[in-house]
Formats: sequence, C-alpha cells, structure tokens
Amino acid sequence: MSWQEEFKKNITTIEQLKEYIDLTPFEQKQLKRVIEKHPMSITRHYLSLIDKKEPNDPLRKMIVPSVEEFSLSGSWDPSGEMQITKMPGLQHKYSPTALILSTSRCAAYCRYCFRKRLVGLSTGEIIEKFDEAVNYINQHKEITNVLISGGDPLILPTEMIDNFLGKLFAIEHLHFMRIGTKIPVIFPDRILQDESLLSVLKKYSTPKKRLYISTQFNHPRELTEKSIRSINKLLRRSIIINNQTVLLKGVNDDPEIIADLQNKLSGIGIIPYYIFQCRPVKRVKQSFQVPLYKGWMIVSKAKHKLNGHSKRFRYVMSHRTGKIEILGIIDDEMYFRFHEARDPKNLGRLFKRKINYTAGWLDEL
Ligand code: SF4
Repeated sequence: MSWQEEFKKNITTIEQLKEYIDLTPFEQKQLKRVIEKHPMSITRHYLSLIDKKEPNDPLRKMIVPSVEEFSLSGSWDPSGEMQITKMPGLQHKYSPTALILSTSRCAAYCRYCFRKRLVGLSTGEIIEKFDEAVNYINQHKEITNVLISGGDPLILPTEMIDNFLGKLFAIEHLHFMRIGTKIPVIFPDRILQDESLLSVLKKYSTPKKRLYISTQFNHPRELTEKSIRSINKLLRRSIIINNQTVLLKGVNDDPEIIADLQNKLSGIGIIPYYIFQCRPVKRVKQSFQVPLYKGWMIVSKAKHKLNGHSKRFRYVMSHRTGKIEILGIIDDEMYFRFHEARDPKNLGRLFKRKINYTAGWLDEL
C-alpha cells in the first residue's frame, strides 16, 4: 500500500474512533463538538501504539481529543508569531533564523499542538508566495538558516518538498536548512515507502551544507521498530537528526521517562536538542502544561540519570521575547537566560524571578 493510500485510512470521525476506544454516548457527543473546532486525525500506526483499555495512556492523551479542550485559558499565540511574520507563511524569528509555515496539514493532529490556531484548519498564515519568501531571505544576509515547519512539511508531495529545498539550498548565505516534522514518530511509512523522498532529501544534504531534521519524540514508547527504521534511513542519507521533546502533563512529566527517552534517542543516533516548556495555548494549557518549578525538578532529576551525550538538550520556553533557557534554582529564585532574543540587547542576558510553584510561563512569575 502506498503512503497516500495508508494516509486515507486515518481515523477522523468519532464513529471510527469508538470502534477502538470505549466512549459513552455523552462522550461521543462532546468529542464531536471538540473536533468541529480542532479536527482529529490519527494514523493507523499511532493508533496501534495506544493502550485502548487505559483511559490515561500517555500516547492516547497526545492524540485522542478530550473535553478538557473546551478550556480557553491561555492565548492562541503565546510565542508572538504574528509579530514576527513578514508575509503570510514567513517568520523572521531571530536575526539568523527564518521559518516557513509550509502547510497547515499534518499526518495526525496532536492535541497539545502550540499551533492549534491553524493546524488542520483553513488559515491565511500559510506560505502563499514562496518565491517572495525566497527573495526576502536572499535580501537578508544575516539569515543563516531556515526552518521549514507547519503543519508537517513531510506530508506535502515529494515534488513540492524538492522545489522548496532546491530554492532555499541555492541561497549562498544559508549555512544549513532544517525541516521540523513528526513523520518518523507518527507516520514512518511516509519515509519507509517513498524512496523518492529519501533521494530528494539526500540530494540536498551535502558535505558543505547539511539538511537537519528536527523530530519530536515525547515518549519512549514512540520509538517503535518502524520509527527506528525510518530514522536509520534518514541517517544513511547523511541527514542530521535532532529531537525536540515537549514536556507534557500526564505524558512524560516523570524523570524516569525523560531520561529513558533521551538515552534511547542518543542510542539510535538522534541528538537531544531541546525540552520545551508546553506553551500556554488555549485548549492546551489546562490539560498539558506542567508548572515551571515542577518542570525544572523533573528535568534536573532526569539529567542526573544521563551521560553527557544524552543530556545535550536545553530546557527552554519559547516566549514572545525570545527563547529562554530555564537554568536552575537557588534558594527561592529561578534563574533564566536568553538563549535567543527578539531584542538583540537581551541576547545571553541572565535574569531571575521569585519562585511561584504554580506558574507555567514567564508572565506568571
Ligand atoms: S505534527 Fe506538529 S504541527 Fe502537526 S499537530 Fe502535531 S505538533 Fe502540531
């Protein structure tokens, strides 16, 4: 079966879902209301990983809609992406980094997505005029790398990915390119069953200018035999892979799970890059965000179990003022540093805040 045919078999309705997961008529009605706002799509691969008998299964929590999504506390755009948008689908994030929103579609829709405002929905935020974005990047010599994001870029047709990469890799002042994708986690057959995609990716990852892929494994159970094979295929095509884990309540808020995951990622050749504080997004914050203090304790205890390779990640918060690393605690204060900053004056700046045990975001400290 081709990956396109397999993709058509995703679970997208509550009628389909209830064949696999017990749902009362009331729950079915409620979840129908949820997916009218934020669509559901679950690949057969990911469905097979869920423990269907366990309502609190961490993998189920990440992908199956919940009534907690009715909660509107938080913001639709806590990282201030609108403020750095230069044209639809092009963000100039930090001086050296641009980001392209290539599509609003994904192989599956994660319930904790920080771009919940747009994934699976029609939106004006997606790239329309790719050549104009390329012109902008061409004119801004300070940009050294571009991240193709979304949605999930690898759900696009291979020819379109080829076209995007071809135009971007031709820009001389870019040192490397990145693709952010959950495909190896959620739909590895997209890689395993399309040799032409692998050829396209390999064509661009050359000794002088590499292609990086940022995956998002959040739980050790996601490292299945198929996922590992898809990662191996990418590595064998000279693609460098790093991972960004999101710290999520009821999913991986446990030092043992974080440590196990980072160890296993290092074991299969993936570089642990970031652990992200879950953003205070509407319909996400209430069910998924771990308070910063607790998050720091989890990450810190996990680091004690890890070797140097497996703890190369930083624990960060993508705040509207910049990417802020959560450094640690002394007495009753938390210490932070601007790893990236929207205002160049802040770059590298250390600062501290008095601990608030329930705060989940800088604005609450
Ligand atoms: S694959 Fe990425 S962009 Fe798509 S819903 Fe999941 S987290 Fe969001």
